[in-house]
Amino acid sequence: MQPVQHCVIGVDIGGTKTAAGIVDAAGMLHASASRPTPATAGPAAILATAVGLVESLLAQARTAGLLPVAVGIGSAGVIDARNGSVVSATDSLTGWAGTPLAAHLGREAGLPAYAVNDVHAHNLGEHWQGASAGAPSTLLVAVGTGVGGSLILDGAAHTGERAVAGHVGHLASPYAYDDAGRALPCSCGRAGHLEAIASGPSISNLYRRLGGDGDAATARDISVRAAAGEPVALRALTLGAEAAGQAVGGLANVLDPAMVVIGGGVSAAGKLWWNPFLTALRAELMDPLAGLPVVPAVLGADAAVVGAAKLAFDRVNVPEETRV
Ligand SMILES: [Zn+2]
Repeated sequence: MQPVQHCVIGVDIGGTKTAAGIVDAAGMLHASASRPTPATAGPAAILATAVGLVESLLAQARTAGLLPVAVGIGSAGVIDARNGSVVSATDSLTGWAGTPLAAHLGREAGLPAYAVNDVHAHNLGEHWQGASAGAPSTLLVAVGTGVGGSLILDGAAHTGERAVAGHVGHLASPYAYDDAGRALPCSCGRAGHLEAIASGPSISNLYRRLGGDGDAATARDISVRAAAGEPVALRALTLGAEAAGQAVGGLANVLDPAMVVIGGGVSAAGKLWWNPFLTALRAELMDPLAGLPVVPAVLGADAAVVGAAKLAFDRVNVPEETRV
């Protein structure tokens, strides 16, 4: 009998969008699709959206002659990668805590399913097919709506004893204070954390506090205004970037990864963000880390889908005789 090519359906559940794709064992993305996440409609609706995408892609894969062997999921929130359930989540996914994510999708798909936090999935994708491919260890930090991180050691994401490892956004930052010396409130309920100064929404808040014009300015708007020479926009973007750079430099001293990969929408703002970020990062590094490679993520929106698929390929047991 001719062996068939295996594939996994990778799924990325975020606060605004749920994406999924057919990924083969060599890491090639054959097809993908996405739908808006019904983020405030409750876990049943969020799961139904993911199941709909998975079922559609399973059918496409089989029509194309591929054999789906598992489902891999990256999701926003704290995800227990051992059982694929949601430990906790912010309000961006209403009621998501406690959802048996992998068990539900696996049952609906009729396949083994595995889940991990979406930043770990992003890192696994970049480490398999992207910016850190082949690196013995890598630290990824994503600066976007939130600030997240992930460390890969020996090919696997370090998720910690309570699934919390990688929450770079909740490091204390000396930048996360207002002019009166009060710690800025953080999404985790605490204050003075990196995410409260470096995330996209935090840069928008900072821009307003500094006297910037416009209630609805997003970090993207602010980076455009900074590029056009608006001093307040440049100041807000620079402070966010310096805060992130200082924290990532400190983490590099702690972890000594082979390389650092930076992703997320805020980091896509270009050199007005990257230059102060890198200067602040390099200023923190101990001498033996002077040559540390720090590079942008390259897989874009597909990274977490590809990385979630890698997680599933690493975990699933496929009978040897059908392996390709
Ligand atoms: Zn926090």
